[in-house]
Amino acid sequence: MSYASHKGREERLEGIGVSPGVAIGAAFLVDDPRGRIVRMYLPQGEEDAEVERFRTAVRLSQQQLEDAKQRLREALGDHNAYILDAHLLMLQDRGLGQQIESFIRDNRANAEWAVREVTNRLLDAYARIQDSYLRERGNDIEDVARRLIKILSGSQTRDISHFASDALIVADHLLPSVAAELDSSKVLGFVTAMGGSTSHTAIIARSLGIPAVVGLRGITSRVRADETMVIDGTTGIVVLRPSPETMRFYNEQRLREQQQQQFDLEERELPAITRDGQEIILRANIELLEEIDALKLSNARGIGLYRSEYLYAQAELGLPTEEEQFEVYQLLAEMGGDDGAVIRTFDLGGDKLHLKGFKAEPNPALGLRAIRLSLTVEAVFRAQLRAILRASHFGKLRIVLPLISNLDELRTAKRIIGEVEAELRAAGIDHAEGIEVGVMVEVPSAVLLADRLAAESDFISLGTNDLTQYVLAVDRTNENVNHLFDSLHPAVLRSIKFTFDAAKLAGIPITVCGEMASNPAHVVVLLGLGLRDLSMTPKAIPTIKRIIRTIDLSTAEKIATHALTLSTPSEVNRHVQEAVARHWAHFLGSHVYSD
Ligand code: PEP
Ligand code: MG
Repeated sequence: MSYASHKGREERLEGIGVSPGVAIGAAFLVDDPRGRIVRMYLPQGEEDAEVERFRTAVRLSQQQLEDAKQRLREALGDHNAYILDAHLLMLQDRGLGQQIESFIRDNRANAEWAVREVTNRLLDAYARIQDSYLRERGNDIEDVARRLIKILSGSQTRDISHFASDALIVADHLLPSVAAELDSSKVLGFVTAMGGSTSHTAIIARSLGIPAVVGLRGITSRVRADETMVIDGTTGIVVLRPSPETMRFYNEQRLREQQQQQFDLEERELPAITRDGQEIILRANIELLEEIDALKLSNARGIGLYRSEYLYAQAELGLPTEEEQFEVYQLLAEMGGDDGAVIRTFDLGGDKLHLKGFKAEPNPALGLRAIRLSLTVEAVFRAQLRAILRASHFGKLRIVLPLISNLDELRTAKRIIGEVEAELRAAGIDHAEGIEVGVMVEVPSAVLLADRLAAESDFISLGTNDLTQYVLAVDRTNENVNHLFDSLHPAVLRSIKFTFDAAKLAGIPITVCGEMASNPAHVVVLLGLGLRDLSMTPKAIPTIKRIIRTIDLSTAEKIATHALTLSTPSEVNRHVQEAVARHWAHFLGSHVYSD
C-alpha cells in the first residue's frame, strides 16, 4: 500500500478508543454528519472549472430564491417577501463569493468544501457578536450555505462510500445510520471530534469491526486530506504523519491482531464454562445483517438483541415494508437456532434516526423515543409486530420492548401484540402462539418498578448503556461528559443488583445486553453479581469466553460484593482494575478499554 506523503513532523493525539484495532490509511475528511460534504483535491489546472461550477450554483440559488420569493408574495403579500432578500443579498455579495473562490484556488478544494469552510468561519464570527439580532443573521448564512451545497452536490449524492478507498474517515460527527452504511472494505477506520464510548455510532463501529476513536476535539482542522495516519481504536491514540518507526510499531501490532483472530477461530468450539463448572450463556447483539458471518464464527447461543431500528435507519427513503421486515426476521429466526433471537421493537429517536415527519427534538434522550414513539405511530408498530409474528413460525423469536418506563406502556404493548396475534389467527396466517414478551430495563423508573415489570413480562434485558446514561444523567453521546459515563458507578451497580434480584424472585430470565457485557472487567463484576446470561457484539465473544474459562465464580463474587460496599466511582474502578490485573492480567492485555 502506498499513501500520499506530506511533509511535517509526526503528531500524536489522544481521544476515546471505542472500537479496538489498528488501522493505517489516508485521511478522508468529511464535513456534515450525513457524510455528504467530502474534501477532495482538484487535479492541477481544474481550479477554474471548479470556480465556474460554484458560480453556476450561485446563479441557480438566486433563481430558486427569486421563485420562492414570488410564491411567498402571492401567498402572504409583499411585506413578507423581504425575508428572502437577505439571502439574495448575501449571494450577490462579491466579498463572500470572492472568499469562496480564493479558497477553491488556494487550497485546490472542491466547491462544496470551500463553501462549508468559508461560511463556517463566518458563522464563528457571528456567534461571538453580542447583539442578538445580528447574531441571528447567522441562520441566514447557514441557510444560504446549505442551499449552495445542495445544488453543488446535485442529485448524485457524494457520500463517503462513493469516494473512499483505504480511507480513514475524519469528521466532527457521524450519524449512526451513516456509520452503518460504511463499506468496511473501503473504510478502514474513523475518528470523530464528538461522541462517547457507548454512542450508537461507536456500537456500529464495533459491530463492523472498524477501528474507531471518538471525542478527539479539533481533529478536523489538524489533519489534511490524504495525509497518512494511524488510528488505534484500543488505546484511543491517533498518529498523524507517522514516522517510519511508528509505522513499524503499528504494522507489528496489526500482525498480532491478525494472529489473535486466528487464535479466536481455533477456540470457537470451546464451551463458555467457568473453572468451577458454571455455564454462562453468551449471545450475540446484531445491528446489521453484515454481521451474520461474524455470528456464525462466534458460536454464540443465539441472538440476544437485534436492534431493529437499523432496518429503518437504512431505509432512509421510507419505512421498511412488512414484507421486507418479515424477510429479515425470518433469517434471524433461522440463524438463532435452538436459542432463538430476541427482536427489539424499533428504538428510534434519541441519537439514532428520526421517523419522517418527526422533527428533531431539543432533548432527544428524554423525548419521543423507542416504545413512546411506537405507541404514537401505532400503525407502524403493528406492521412491525405482524412481520415478527409471521417470522416466529420459522424459528424461536422473542420480542423485547425498549425504554419501558411504566407498566401502562408494557400493558398497552402487550394488548397490541395480542390483537395482532388474533388478526393473524383469524386470517389463517402461520405464526407461533404466545410469543414471549420482555422489557428492556434501562431507565431508573423501570429499575424501581423491576418487581412489577418482572411480574408481567417473560424476561428482562438489562440495557446498561441507557441505564448508565439515565441513572447518572450523563449523555452517552457527549464527549464532554464521557469521563463521567461509568457503568461501575455505585448507583449503576446497585440498579443492576436490584433488577437482578427482582428477576430472580419472579423466576424469569435476565440478560445483560449493554456494552458492559463485552468489557472484560465489567463482566467479572456482572458474574459476581449473579448474572449468567450476556449478549454482546459477536466480535467480543472470544475474549469474554476466555475470561469466563479462567474465572472462579467465588472470586468474582468476592470482587462484586466488595464493590457494592464502596461509595465512589473511583474506589470501585480502582478495586475492580486491581482485582482484574491480579487475576487475569495475562488474558486482558490490550483488550481492556475503559469507558
Ligand atoms: C442499552 O441501552 O444498553 C442497549 C442495549 O440498547 P441501545 O444501546 O441500543 O440503546
Ligand atoms: Mg438502550
